[in-house]
Amino acid sequence: MSAADLSYVQPTPNSPWGTYLSQVDRVVPYLGELSRWVETLKRPKRALIVDVPIEMDDGSIAHFEGYRVQHNMSRGPGKGGVRFHPDVTLEEVMALSAWMTVKTAAVNLPYGGAKGGIRVDPKKLTHKELERVTRRYTSEIGIIIGPQQDIPAPDVNTNAQIMAWMMDTYSMNVGGTATGVVTGKPLHLGGSLGRVKATGRGVFVTGREAARRLGLDLRGARIAVQGFGNVGSVAAELFAEAGAKIVAVQDHTGTIVNANGLDLKTLLPLARTEGVAGFEGGDVIANESFWDVACDILIPAALEGQVTAERAQKTRARLVLEGANGPTVPAADDILAERGVLVVPDVICNAGGVTVSYFEWVQDFSSFFWDEDEINQRLDRIMMNALNQIWDTADRHRITLRTATFAVACERILMARQERGLYP
Ligand code: NAD
Repeated sequence: MSAADLSYVQPTPNSPWGTYLSQVDRVVPYLGELSRWVETLKRPKRALIVDVPIEMDDGSIAHFEGYRVQHNMSRGPGKGGVRFHPDVTLEEVMALSAWMTVKTAAVNLPYGGAKGGIRVDPKKLTHKELERVTRRYTSEIGIIIGPQQDIPAPDVNTNAQIMAWMMDTYSMNVGGTATGVVTGKPLHLGGSLGRVKATGRGVFVTGREAARRLGLDLRGARIAVQGFGNVGSVAAELFAEAGAKIVAVQDHTGTIVNANGLDLKTLLPLARTEGVAGFEGGDVIANESFWDVACDILIPAALEGQVTAERAQKTRARLVLEGANGPTVPAADDILAERGVLVVPDVICNAGGVTVSYFEWVQDFSSFFWDEDEINQRLDRIMMNALNQIWDTADRHRITLRTATFAVACERILMARQERGLYP
């Protein structure tokens, strides 16, 4: 039986789960004897669907669908964010949880992979309704999460406040403060310095190394960023500090360009409150035109499936840094490789967030907190070590960085599976 036979999901070619399965198929030739365990990677260990009923402020009752998927826990507890979005599906959460398994193994953190989501548009909820949704969801998934079982974190449309509510709800239910149950918490509740910027910082660190290897000078390099939230905006800031020009930004409100570089100091506060479309320091262009803007580096940092075959054909970038999870469909991956465009894949490029989440979890357990310099230095070292090992693997087998990352990660995951053996 193959993963395509899972009764609860029929993967379609460019869907997130279909994309993930095809990425796994590509790594099989490099797994040697361990390939006998590969089916493990093609099915989630556990998937929980929960009903999240809440009372709305007007007295009516609303129901939302929530998920928590634990894809693989061979190397440690589940780890992965929670997404609040009206389009979230079980299939999407499965793919995101699987990419977490690969990502935590790629940077050699002692975790498996998990992910959660609620099918809700949080922008349509009041603050109180958002709190009720978060708390009820946490209570419902409380049977499978915990500091040693599965540790959620922020993702699209979730933040430190939501993590604080999750931590509090779980703690109330178990009868004691359990800070280690989620990461990405506010600083005074056991959060870590450097966590908010960690994912963007990882994109920058891996991107700077990729640019160096390509002989692309960051000073004056032109960068286009899709998604200007936690990941995209921080990465943009760090590249701008290194001398690059952010020439195009797209978010859910629209696309703006300025060939001389957008002024981030005025753009960032506007992006946080209203979105980028109303920005006066650039020209508004059609969303589809974002994909052939003249640029050297493209950073997709919004949602999955954005870099399609057609867009891969027209991009003018030499380097793609995947801030988002699953932004490139497999056909586009092939086109980029043929065109000589270097892709630093999500499973290493955006691993900075989970790495500092790991630091947060360790600090919570020891109740001893590190300063920001120490966190950033450790983050940079872990990211660079992982990237160099992946690059060596890519060079040795003459494969893309994505397949090399999967090769390094899947070897670790399947080795753990083999050594633990099957129970009973
Ligand atoms: P966020 O909610 O902070 O920001 C999302 C951004 O994407 C916003 O600017 C939004 O306007 C934009 N966006 C949404 N729909 C869009 C559309 N259709 N077209 C263009 N832009 C659109 O989320 P985030 O935390 O920055 O996450 C972004 C991506 O990075 C996701 O794929 C997420 O899974 C991934 N990621 C996040 C983290 C993290 O630590 N937050 C870690 C690893 C990976």
